[in-house]
Amino acid sequence: LNAGEFILEKIWQFKDTVALINGATDEKLTYGEMAQEAMNLAVSLVRLGVRRGDVVAICAENRREFWSTVIGITCAGAVVTTVNMIYTKGELKHVMGITKPTFMFCSPLALKVQAKNFRSLEYVKKFIVYGDEKIPNMLSYNDLAIAGPASKLSQHVKYEDFDAVDVEGQNDLAMILYSSGTTGLPKGVMITHLNVLTASASNVERPSFVTLSITPWYHTMGLMSHLIGFVKGRTTVYLPKFEVDLYLKTIEKYQISQLTVVPPVLVALCKSPSKYDVSSVLVIFSGAAPLHKETIVAVHKRFPNVQAVLQGYGMTESTLVVTININGDKEGSVGQVNSNTIIKIVDPETRKVLGPNQNGEICIKGAMIMKGYIGKKRQDDFDEEGFFKTGDIGYYDDDKYFYIVDRLKELIKYKGYQVAPAELEAVLLKHAGVRDAGVVGVPHASAGEVPLAFVVLQPGAETTEAELQQFVAERLSNSKHLRGGVRFVEAIPKTLTGKILRKELKKMAKSTRS
Ligand code: ATP
Ligand code: MG
Repeated sequence: LNAGEFILEKIWQFKDTVALINGATDEKLTYGEMAQEAMNLAVSLVRLGVRRGDVVAICAENRREFWSTVIGITCAGAVVTTVNMIYTKGELKHVMGITKPTFMFCSPLALKVQAKNFRSLEYVKKFIVYGDEKIPNMLSYNDLAIAGPASKLSQHVKYEDFDAVDVEGQNDLAMILYSSGTTGLPKGVMITHLNVLTASASNVERPSFVTLSITPWYHTMGLMSHLIGFVKGRTTVYLPKFEVDLYLKTIEKYQISQLTVVPPVLVALCKSPSKYDVSSVLVIFSGAAPLHKETIVAVHKRFPNVQAVLQGYGMTESTLVVTININGDKEGSVGQVNSNTIIKIVDPETRKVLGPNQNGEICIKGAMIMKGYIGKKRQDDFDEEGFFKTGDIGYYDDDKYFYIVDRLKELIKYKGYQVAPAELEAVLLKHAGVRDAGVVGVPHASAGEVPLAFVVLQPGAETTEAELQQFVAERLSNSKHLRGGVRFVEAIPKTLTGKILRKELKKMAKSTRS
């Protein structure tokens, strides 16, 4: 079964329901319109020569045409790849070189930002541009997806007559998504039709909740959480970019009940003035990066009716979250495992399976887990039993609730000990003078590595290095003391989804060492 066709069938049942509202302009899109444009587009793409397995890229900010494009490409049997609009020239060339798309959808804004870089992508035969403006030598989305006298389509494709291109669910790719590139260059993750179908059938959504969407749709978190909301007929209000005032105003205006956010957005919201009524918010879902306990406490103060801050754990490679605390119990945990996934925790050295309350590498298996990375051998990243090795360290408690500790690669090796930077960051954030913190290991002659902290101080704070070292020493065991020192900086480098870029911190550690 074609995953695009499955989504199309589902959303067609909600034809008259509003799927998307642009919170900045009030423009609405119904599921009927979304489905119609997707079908029209699928037919147009096949006419243009797009074949099963061809890769088609989308490079745009969050906007109304995005989802019809995703569903349309998938129905045409082609493979969707989504591109971050603010990639540098090098990153763009790297990710596009992995997939070599033949067609690329883009917004006028993306075209403006990437104009020069797009020209160097010689494998792209045609660009298809969103919006009303006609651009020489480029096709227009409206001509291909919206029927009308001026368009290339004289009439709408009828739902009854529409057939998606047949695919083999387990093998054919629906998408190639890029990992965030937190630990190295982004990797091309192969997501099959079966992966998307399984994710769509998983039970982690509350359709009755009006959701406010701010996470970028090109990234797996935004992409997949919307698709699984759509098949349940959920209404989503979205904003093209995060701006605190507009965000809060939108909550009040549309009586938003659920927020989907990454941790830095929550931190900013908690610090914002309470000019608007946010009492409609009942549930907040946070993912992609660690959420600190202090933030959860602050959230309950700022959003009085929030029943729970839900967290999930997932990655590009797992299509959707593989654990989620859907009931909101045990705040701070990423919850219990999805019914379609198996998780084992293993000792990273011996590969022995570990029991409850023991830290080890999280390994996952199931119908949502990617086929593999493009251009990499499967056995490099999967073990003999077919489990994907996530590279994340975590544990589960006696009730089988999972907790994420840190990334294996980023653990600091102090003598025989493994120190998780995230634990030190959490302690530093408890200090009243600390606004933000990032910790990395730096080489040390006798100990191997020692922890070094980069700290952003609260405005006006006069906290010193010695004070913070003392603060940590009082709270954590000897191996975790800040022997590498403390550096005060203006900001901690992070990805758009709120992950600390520790590879950048390591560079900063080298370049400023005297
Ligand atoms: P790359 O693989 O390119 O280095 P990345 O791992 O950051 O980048 P993503 O697939 O976007 O790319 O992110 C998945 C990772 O995010 C997980 O492997 C995990 O390290 C982290 N993560 C996801 N959810 C959580 C969470 N709830 N708490 C802490 N970390 C999380
Ligand atoms: Mg990763």
